[in-house]
Amino acid sequence: MAGPVVTTTRFAPSPTGLLHVGNIRTAVFNWALARASGGTFILRIDDTDPERSRPEFADAIRRDLDWLGLTWDREERQSERLDLYAEAADRLRASDRLYPAYETPQELGLKSKAQLATGRPPVYDRAARNLTAEDRSRLEGEGRKPHWRFLLDHARIQWPDLVLGDQSIDAASVSDPVLIREDGQVLYTIASVVDDADMGITHVVRGADHVTNTATQIQIFAALQGRAPEFAHHSLLTGPGGEGLSKRLGSLSIAELRAGGIEPLAIVAMLARLGSSDPIEVRASLDDVIAGFDITRFGAAPTRFDVAELKLISTKTLHGLAFDDIKSRLLLSDITKDISRELWSAVRGNLESWSEFEDWAQITEGEVSPQIDPDDLEFVALALGALPPRPWDETTWKTWTSELKAKTGRKGKALFLPLRRALTGRDHGPEMAKLMPLLKKL
Ligand code: GLU
Repeated sequence: MAGPVVTTTRFAPSPTGLLHVGNIRTAVFNWALARASGGTFILRIDDTDPERSRPEFADAIRRDLDWLGLTWDREERQSERLDLYAEAADRLRASDRLYPAYETPQELGLKSKAQLATGRPPVYDRAARNLTAEDRSRLEGEGRKPHWRFLLDHARIQWPDLVLGDQSIDAASVSDPVLIREDGQVLYTIASVVDDADMGITHVVRGADHVTNTATQIQIFAALQGRAPEFAHHSLLTGPGGEGLSKRLGSLSIAELRAGGIEPLAIVAMLARLGSSDPIEVRASLDDVIAGFDITRFGAAPTRFDVAELKLISTKTLHGLAFDDIKSRLLLSDITKDISRELWSAVRGNLESWSEFEDWAQITEGEVSPQIDPDDLEFVALALGALPPRPWDETTWKTWTSELKAKTGRKGKALFLPLRRALTGRDHGPEMAKLMPLLKKL
């Protein structure tokens, strides 16, 4: 008897560009779904298009997922599985579900124009089904090569979508999809079905732009005697004003967000709830994100994404990180000195992004360019001469500044700001009482 089915999902990016928040939302859904049920999450690189796929984009995809903590259990590359697709295509040919067609893109364009002009939907008319063997050899004699279309069964295609609810599409309203191009390149529509069946994918979660693909793919699963997985089509992201996200992709690539100091956990936490009926909350760990994840709680309407909201969540996420959470990134950072727990707890509440922590680490090591107003030169000289003896603790600042207040009559900003600027080189920052004992070179 077969054992229980393990939830298996995949994220299937084409390595033709950098990942952006919209792609990562798909990755987060698939990852969280697998992790929430102890299942398997596969990274599938959809690189059947040799012209547009680039190894450096595949590397960038891995790097982004890694940085976000979206670990995958297995990686597969479609370019290494071409034999399987060819074999599946042969089986479809043998059952007369894959037929050759010879129209050029221009001819197809004219056909659909004519259809539209007479009020008909631009669905491929299956003219190629009527070609005789002689027609074919004549066309091939003219140098034409066939592309191959899947013969849809003109019935209603139905599935219970986990996000969109019950779906029903009339197969007659869709063109027979091209599965193999005239240059022999196998297309995603069949490659994905072969992989999903072969890899035991239980849930396909992807954007709503794939709904029509799903309808045709459900018939391809059936024609190949594979079991169709469950489907969930999430809404697409728009900008804050409802505009399509693609226009602004540059600034919303994961690489860009990383360079901008956004916390990876904030990205995952936000994307795993945005557009669902659950609130977006700051999370302490990826496990917390996984814990409440429920794909059925997402709505079908386009979902607004606002990078300003992400920045807020990122800052709050940073403030909530414990020292143990930051240890591993300390190893990767430029900070080579010992960083104490105390420094992290003194500084974290003032940070907007991680790079500022690196600045504070430098400052406590004595790499400071003191800012001293000419009017304060004398006062600062006096203050530095009156520094209390080490060891310092959190009471030292108060002792020192009270004494200076008594000596000079300065108070409030006039007392504190010149000292902060002299010691840290900045106008703002963590509480000086906490920071002072951490300043190593004074
Ligand atoms: N490579 C496809 C894409 O990026 C994958 C779609 C799917 O998840 O099946 O759109």
